[in-house]
Amino acid sequence: MTALRQDVARLYREVCARGLNVGSSGNVSARAGLGMIITPSGVRGDTVDPADLVRMDFAGGHEGPLAPSSEWAMHAAIYRADPAAMVVVHTHSDAATALGALGLGLPAFHYDIAQFGGDDVRLAPYALFGTRELADHAVAALDGRRACLLAHHGMICHGRDAGAALLAAVRLETMARQYLMALSAGAPRILGASEMAAVHERYKTYGQQPALKA
Ligand code: 13P
Ligand code: ZN
Repeated sequence: MTALRQDVARLYREVCARGLNVGSSGNVSARAGLGMIITPSGVRGDTVDPADLVRMDFAGGHEGPLAPSSEWAMHAAIYRADPAAMVVVHTHSDAATALGALGLGLPAFHYDIAQFGGDDVRLAPYALFGTRELADHAVAALDGRRACLLAHHGMICHGRDAGAALLAAVRLETMARQYLMALSAGAPRILGASEMAAVHERYKTYGQQPALKA
């Protein structure tokens, strides 16, 4: 069993264990060479076996007896569009789904929206699950971003590895919940472009910087 299969199965289990997905909703994948390894369709996170994961190319060709996730085209389109995407997580998590049902993306109600790559998290318009149309909408909404919401569906995000993709999913769900709370109590002020530019600048030196050479 390859380490990548173990990583993808562990990630899918973790996404479900954290309550971001219920039953077989959502799916995860990791880039593997010129293709990807993706969860099989209709399989639950709490029972997924690394051997069940499907290795496939970005045109839909796959090996093994199990059919890949119905959203394989959305995952493939994201890997094709952004070379930085190494692991993709798709969920139907509560707050992200609620915002998408209201026709809302996430604006800069909090400075940390910058963690997704821009000044907002966009909402991709509705399209039937598992379609090329949904894949195209997601890629357009992700342009310059690591996450987007999917109208009447959920969200999708990516990261450089399984840990980063899981963190992006948890952070997005947390911030979607915070924005819904703020909306339900009033009209949150949205940070302006110059305030967000300062945040992007500050992040360049945030956290532990490499030690200066003497
Ligand atoms: P799969 O079980 O085919 O991965 O589909 C779940 C899903 O989230 C569809 O949008
Ligand atoms: Zn879905």
